[in-house]
Amino acid sequence: MAKDYYGILGVTRDASDDEIKRAYRKLARRYHPDVNPDPEAHETFKDINAAYEVLSDDQKRQIVDLGGDPLAPGGGAGPGTGAGGPFVGFQDIMDAFFGGGGARGPRARTRAGADAILRLDLDLAETSFGVEAPITVDTAVLCTTCSGAGTAAGTHLATCEACGGRGEVQSVQRTFLGQVVSSRPCAACQGHGTVIPNPCPTCAGDGRVRTRRSLTVKIPAGIEDGMRIRLAQQGEVGPGGGPAGDLYVEIHERPHDVYSRKGDDLHCRVTVPMTAAALGTRLTIKTLDSEEQLDVRPGTQPGATLRVRGRGVPHLRGQGRGDLYVHLDVRTPVKLEPEQERLLREFAKTRGEEVAELSKQGGFFSRMRDAFNGHA
Ligand SMILES: [Zn+2]
Ligand SMILES: [Zn+2]
Repeated sequence: MAKDYYGILGVTRDASDDEIKRAYRKLARRYHPDVNPDPEAHETFKDINAAYEVLSDDQKRQIVDLGGDPLAPGGGAGPGTGAGGPFVGFQDIMDAFFGGGGARGPRARTRAGADAILRLDLDLAETSFGVEAPITVDTAVLCTTCSGAGTAAGTHLATCEACGGRGEVQSVQRTFLGQVVSSRPCAACQGHGTVIPNPCPTCAGDGRVRTRRSLTVKIPAGIEDGMRIRLAQQGEVGPGGGPAGDLYVEIHERPHDVYSRKGDDLHCRVTVPMTAAALGTRLTIKTLDSEEQLDVRPGTQPGATLRVRGRGVPHLRGQGRGDLYVHLDVRTPVKLEPEQERLLREFAKTRGEEVAELSKQGGFFSRMRDAFNGHA
């Protein structure tokens, strides 16, 4: 269903271009979001803009007068399908009839700024317990000389002469559908419809300047590698002093010398001597924030794991912490003193364990090798 664009602007169907422009300005001043924060006013403002966009464009206005809606997808008058003509592309025809494409009246000078992302390297203790980290961002901020307007003090924007303020230029082309008018953004004003005769000397008309800013980001306890913290409106200020984008701080956790992290659990490896594994012992483990006494039971095997509850990383959401897992390696002595060897042999004998004599006949392993290779 076609919208009543004339009714929205409060003008008659035979209103002149000037009357339409005056009606639009009057309404825009009343409903612009900058002066009227009411959400309903915002919707009205959108309608007013759409109505002006349509009625200020001869082609679109003609579609309205024929009962169509140039802003509704597929709602325009005229043929809706057909291959591209010999002179212009299909998109040009669609643009001309249905008001699609990039050329839709002047482009706003003020636009929203881009988001920014920053990498932050943290130690395990910092990601575990949280930290207030200082960061430095290179970003665009509002130009204080012109407050974003882009114009030098005491000067104003001027209507672009090349496009008469429409922000777009039209060309007429002959196609199989008849004459088609296609629109493109005006090159002289980049589609803004206005030019800056006297740009602000500080920002050269951009309304923003680049600078380096320092701020502090609060890192919550339990944050994980790869997570991002969003700092609303700490990104770049937009062209023409538009609202700033967001800043995302991406967390990178440096590997720890002792602990590796899996979720909120921590893992480490501890080597104990063979005798300690056999006889049992007590270990002192330095965790991230405490010292723990760990009992290694007599007869502990290589690869055994000790679990210390609640000594891992605090959970990011909610209470509690992960666990700490201590993986035990058992080290066999590499070199034995004669007395130590004698005691071990004695020990083996009492257990009835057979131990070969390596010092005689080239040793046990060389005999094994010979057996593998098929020697006698
Ligand atoms: Zn400026
Ligand atoms: Zn222009």
